Order: sequence, then C-alpha cells, then structure tokens
Amino acid sequence: MPKIGIDPGHGGSDPGAVAASGLQEKDVTLAVGLALRQLLQGAGIAVVMSRTGDQDVSLADRAALFNREQVDLVISLHVNSAGTPANYASTFILAPGGQAEKLARLIQAEVVAATGWPDGGVRQANFYILRETDDPAVLVEMGFISNPETAAQLATPAVQQSLARTIFRGLALYLDLQLSEPRDIQGHWAETAIRQVMAAGIMSGYPDGTFRPDQNATRAELAAALANLLARLNFNTV
Ligand SMILES: [Zn+2]
Repeated sequence: MPKIGIDPGHGGSDPGAVAASGLQEKDVTLAVGLALRQLLQGAGIAVVMSRTGDQDVSLADRAALFNREQVDLVISLHVNSAGTPANYASTFILAPGGQAEKLARLIQAEVVAATGWPDGGVRQANFYILRETDDPAVLVEMGFISNPETAAQLATPAVQQSLARTIFRGLALYLDLQLSEPRDIQGHWAETAIRQVMAAGIMSGYPDGTFRPDQNATRAELAAALANLLARLNFNTV
C-alpha cells in the first residue's frame, strides 16, 4: 500500500494569504489536509502529515520529514492570492513528463469539475517542496482567497470536505484504486451519512459496487459497524 505525504501549507506564525474577511490560508489548508487524511486512511492508505495543528514547520523540515518517511507521493495544499480579481484552480509541478504531471492532471481535472472554478491548468514552478522531496510531488492551489466569493466558499466545512474528496478522487485514479463508490447511493436521503461512514471505514459497500441502502441490517452487521466505530474512537475492543 502506498504512503502519501500531505502538506497543509503555512501554519503557526505564518498565516499564508489572508482574505479581506480575515480567513487565513493556513486554516483552509489544514482543514482540507485533515479531511484528506481521513479519506486516505479510510481506504487503508498510510499518511504522513507535515503538520496536524496550527504550528510553524519550516519548508526544510517538511521536505526532510517526507524523505525520511519515504512517502510515495506528496500533496502540498495551498490557496492562491492576487491583487487582481483572479479566480481559478491550478496544480503545480516541478517539471513535466513525469509521474507528478500524471497525478497533477488527474487532481486538477477533479478539482475543476467539482468546484466549477476556471481551469488554471497544470503549471510548472520551482517551489521548494516540489524540488526538495525525493518522490513525485504536486502543489494544489485551491482557488484564490483574494476573491471574496471564493474566500466565502473556502471558509465553509462543506467546501473544505468537497476539496478533500476531489483530491482524494484524483489520487485514487492515479493509484488505480478500486474506489468502492457504490452506484446506488446518489440522491438517497442518507447519501451523506453513507459517504461519511464509508470514508471513516465504519461500513463498506458490496463487492458488486452496490451499497443497498434500503436493505435491512442483521444484528451481526450492526454490531460489526458499531465495533468499527468503537475502534475509530480508540476504545479498547476485544
Ligand atoms: Zn500558500
């Protein structure tokens, strides 16, 4: 199983870009990063986070951590800012032609499709985190915090969750993961709840690609789901 490095940009004394509303880039990148970690771990993928709280971590320490942990891929999360009324999503790589570009194109397509933001494309930049990590790395610029409309979106947990899901989908496509996204939950009244328990590893779909949302659960299935929940809550289970 792959090991993914997630790098929520900025943190601590470095807020990153700041919106007119006061929203800080460091908070958006951390929220998306933590949600992405949950999705990946729910899929059985190991995750290394460069930070899990509001703390200062230097670029050198971030790259060194990922290299020491020998992650397979690095996803760096940022939000753009500009003096002009710009608004688009873009994904940066160090150089074209490699695995990072393949991953970046998949993530970029998912982000643009989910947000409806203009497509800024896959771009090249000599960013430290892209250059100094040993394995393929991409840096996702999740819209422009300087755009008041985008900033309002980025401040909502629903949009933060959605961004995490889109990046997860791009990663999953890259990893050729069996996405186990059931085809019979769209539009169901419990769709959100079903997605949540699946992402958290509490319940799963059937191998034939269905979840069968209206099928009765046996007492054993209920016990199994609750046991998974207890495990998530770090209770001692037998
Ligand atoms: Zn940034």
